[in-house]
Amino acid sequence: MNQSSNFEHTLPSQYREVYHLDARKPKVGVIMNLIALGVLGVVLLIAYIPVARGGLSLMADVPTALITYLAFLASIILYTVLHELVHGAAYKRLTGEKLTFGMSWSCAFCGVPHIFVYRRAVLFAVAAPLTVFTVLLIPLTVALFFVHPLCYFASAALFGLHLGGCCGDIYVILLLLTKYRSRELLVKDTGPEQFFYLPSGNAPHHD
Ligand SMILES: [Zn+2]
Repeated sequence: MNQSSNFEHTLPSQYREVYHLDARKPKVGVIMNLIALGVLGVVLLIAYIPVARGGLSLMADVPTALITYLAFLASIILYTVLHELVHGAAYKRLTGEKLTFGMSWSCAFCGVPHIFVYRRAVLFAVAAPLTVFTVLLIPLTVALFFVHPLCYFASAALFGLHLGGCCGDIYVILLLLTKYRSRELLVKDTGPEQFFYLPSGNAPHHD
């Protein structure tokens, strides 16, 4: 893979900014986290259906409940770190450039702040954790159903946190698949902020 064809070191002169997303803005951060909570709620409701249908109980003896609870808390922390590392691994593989990791009040983040990345590479890097952890967590959750309903439900909750937590990523993916499909699109991804650029004359019309 030719990394240098995936990005530009400086913004070409004919390009201008066409879109800017900042997860640290109060409105964006609050909406993003409310959507994440809503997604978690829907996932938990759906996950509870087989428990209710099977007449099962989420009650467990104290050791099982304690271990499940501690494992759940640890997995949330581990997941948050791994999610950003997967973004980072993809950006590193695609560009070879310096990464940035961090945390703001509204989200954890990873970016490549010093370069301008072409659409295809951004799409790949932004979608990587969503794809990887969806593929891992769904079979894990199904398998845990046969271990204990509580383990299953904790895993389903982790999947709900994953899917909800990906809502910012999903929003960027949707933008790249709909309004900003030009292969000329360049993105500066600082982590919490994404700046989209297109050559002037190529910008999508404003509504
Ligand atoms: Zn992400």
